[in-house]
Amino acid sequence: MRVRLSRPVRIENGQGPPRYPVKEALGSARTLIFKGDRVMCSCCGLSFRHFLFSPYGSARCPRCLSFERYRLLCRWLSDETDFGRGRAVRALDIAPTWAFQEFCRSFPLVDYLSVDIASPMAMRHMDIRGLDLPSGEFDWLFCYHVLEHVDDDEKALSEMFRVLKPGGTAVISVPIRCDVTVERSELTGQEAEDILTYEDHIRGYGRDFDSLLERAGFSVDVVPFVERFSEADVGRLGLDVTEDLYVSRKPAGHPAS
Ligand SMILES: [Zn+2]
Repeated sequence: MRVRLSRPVRIENGQGPPRYPVKEALGSARTLIFKGDRVMCSCCGLSFRHFLFSPYGSARCPRCLSFERYRLLCRWLSDETDFGRGRAVRALDIAPTWAFQEFCRSFPLVDYLSVDIASPMAMRHMDIRGLDLPSGEFDWLFCYHVLEHVDDDEKALSEMFRVLKPGGTAVISVPIRCDVTVERSELTGQEAEDILTYEDHIRGYGRDFDSLLERAGFSVDVVPFVERFSEADVGRLGLDVTEDLYVSRKPAGHPAS
């Protein structure tokens, strides 16, 4: 067992993703403080009096600190897929969050690996433009709000496609800002401020994002999953109303590499 005393305190025992005892203790304390039944988190499965409101306008889960978009993802995985049930799968999480890591941990059949270029949350550090991983390795891949920070997003997508098993599924999410994807370098200062919002976003993706995924080889379904919920349930479950799910599959007959 290895314990890292750098923040966040992390325990690794070589089995599954690392544990974060301080995060877990604080999460348990918040669960008691916000005990209730008005809202429910689809990541950790617990109910609360209300969500926590962050300075960014998002409503985070008191227990696992999930954001809206991850609660939408976990709900979709639970309702619409066999993720974690029936058969053992390997899952790759790029730029991990604690909430989604713990959701994956709750399924013994999910062999979970997280990677990031620098995040202390990640199990391994590597560049998304050159993943140090075998081809055709993962049944599932998740990459949320990363590509808008990556200069060569086509290379990153080709790497995601490579490491996915034929027949495997990637859920890749970016903030959709406009109709047609535009690079920061093509925008005036004011346009960049209006469209990109954040200074570290290299481009603003448009509703043509599915074309970019298809060019990488994926077969794409754009799933407006949140539309299946009533307004009351969207509020109760704290779901993201701004994002469709870009469900991207590597064709089953594709060579592994
Ligand atoms: Zn939660």
